[in-house]
Amino acid sequence: MIVGIDLGTTNSLVSAWTDEGIVLIPNEFGEYLTPSVVSFDNGEVIVGKTAKERLITNPDQTVCEFKRQMGRNVKFDLGRAGSYTPIDLSAIVLKKLIADAEKFLGEKVDSAVISVPAYFDDHQREATRLAGVRAGVKVTQLINEPSAAALSYHFEHMDQDEKFIVFDFGGGTLDVTVVDAFANMVEICNISGDNALGGKDFNEAIALDICSKFGIDWEKLDKKNKAVLINCGESIKIRLSSDDKTKTMINAQGQEYEYELDQQRFIDISASIFRRLTIVLKRLMNDACLSPEDIAGVIMVGGSSKMPSVRAYMESLFPGKIKVDPNGDVSICRGAGIVTGIALRKDDVKDIVMTDICPFSLGIDVIGDKMSVIIPKNQILPASKMGRYYTATNMQKKLQFNIYQGEKLKASNNLKLDTIEFDVPPRPKGEVYADVRFSYDLNGIFDIDIYCPANNTEVHRSRGAQEGIDQDKLIDIKLRMDELKKDPREIPEIKYLLEKSARLYEEGNQYQREVLRNEIEGFNNFLDSASIIDCKKAAMMFSLKLERIEQSMFSFETETENLWKQYIESELDGDCEEDDEEDKAD
Ligand code: ADP
Ligand code: MG
Repeated sequence: MIVGIDLGTTNSLVSAWTDEGIVLIPNEFGEYLTPSVVSFDNGEVIVGKTAKERLITNPDQTVCEFKRQMGRNVKFDLGRAGSYTPIDLSAIVLKKLIADAEKFLGEKVDSAVISVPAYFDDHQREATRLAGVRAGVKVTQLINEPSAAALSYHFEHMDQDEKFIVFDFGGGTLDVTVVDAFANMVEICNISGDNALGGKDFNEAIALDICSKFGIDWEKLDKKNKAVLINCGESIKIRLSSDDKTKTMINAQGQEYEYELDQQRFIDISASIFRRLTIVLKRLMNDACLSPEDIAGVIMVGGSSKMPSVRAYMESLFPGKIKVDPNGDVSICRGAGIVTGIALRKDDVKDIVMTDICPFSLGIDVIGDKMSVIIPKNQILPASKMGRYYTATNMQKKLQFNIYQGEKLKASNNLKLDTIEFDVPPRPKGEVYADVRFSYDLNGIFDIDIYCPANNTEVHRSRGAQEGIDQDKLIDIKLRMDELKKDPREIPEIKYLLEKSARLYEEGNQYQREVLRNEIEGFNNFLDSASIIDCKKAAMMFSLKLERIEQSMFSFETETENLWKQYIESELDGDCEEDDEEDKAD
């Protein structure tokens, strides 16, 4: 059995695709959200709501928010209980979710699809995969959280063709994503975010306000008293989601205080949080060249999206566009579960095609430690791109490629993934070159293929699929990767369409030929520059157009010519729009 897991900073959830479709799995309290908190009590491991209580009663043996440290070489020291890496702690949470799932489903769980923040780099993804393996499951796929939320939303609105934003505001992170969905396609177009902005900032803002009101010096408070105030902040914040004002008795440093907070004051003390929120949204709209009118809706998910002040603020930025997803709390987990359904080729979902984007640039270093990008950030995935690199000195004997991930101009400031070095025949500089091809798929599997014609050297490396993936899946991935590296004109359906268009051109009259010439040229230009998925999408449109042209070729009514003139006029309008799109795809 395979499950979908949202391994959140604050809360984690698990789902599965059963005979009834997508199902969320409750924990021992009958709740879907299990706090991502781990506590140790004399050798016993506690996970979830009970462990969260122990953040206050046993802060030294309890730990939360370890997801923020994923992929880093750190350990949480829990005294007698020992010390644990973020991978260990994540594995403990995963184990608990899997146990809940096995109990609920009455079946053994052996694999999982786990969601990760879109901005997670290679190390953080690898760490997540490893946590799964330690928890005893194969991680068959990692899906980006916003993509999972988008999939979950579109699954409920399959009949709609629209561009929307997923606004995921969690406990410690904000992710915003532009999604284009039509029929069974879900395409992620743009991602932006702040990975240090979330619900906890509101909790802290309230805790600091309590301190300033009652003359408490925050810096002088110990760990426990800080935790008490932050916890108060959180419950006050949550109450403000249903009430306009709150009154709370607070016990800090052995003293009792009565603290009142209403919406307006809450918004005032949170002003800097809203400012940071605006920066993220502006950057996203700017990167995506969009204005609020272009968007069909803003889907609010994540716990912090429940706050009336956040909703009102978003409403002011996107008037009339705010849609609160009733499944907002669970949508990432539902999305991960839907992915398991797709993987199992279940009837309701097997035709869904999802594209994602590369959240970071991939490239190599060139002279002067400069980053030469081969697959740029925001490139639609799956993608395969090539760069050609020449020798830089006379009689150079070796070529060395250091492969990096990241946005820094200086290559060595990015994350180094690999080094590939091989001998080349010594010749005058610039005479020897190598073609470096990067292919990156939706699973984060990254293939590097280098070919040097001067001495026929071929190097192939594949990253990201080492652990936990079985042989069948690997073969399947390999086949898809190979397809990705092909010229799109070799794909059977595209080859057929090109042949068909050539035949129609031969058979057509002068008007039909004029339209066909434009269509064929446009399609060919697109094939030269776009990703395989985009080519397939464009092929669907091209096929429809050819069908329309073919139909009218066989109706020899007197008005045929008029019809054709109208058609040409409408198509010329349409062409302009398409040209715009091609520019963007470049
Ligand atoms: P993550 O994705 O980081 O695991 P979630 O999406 O589950 O987190 O969101 C958790 C955050 O949402 C916490 O900061 C919590 O305080 C906040 N939250 C949950 N429910 C509410 C509510 N009703 N009103 C305001 N904030 C809430
Ligand atoms: Mg989340």
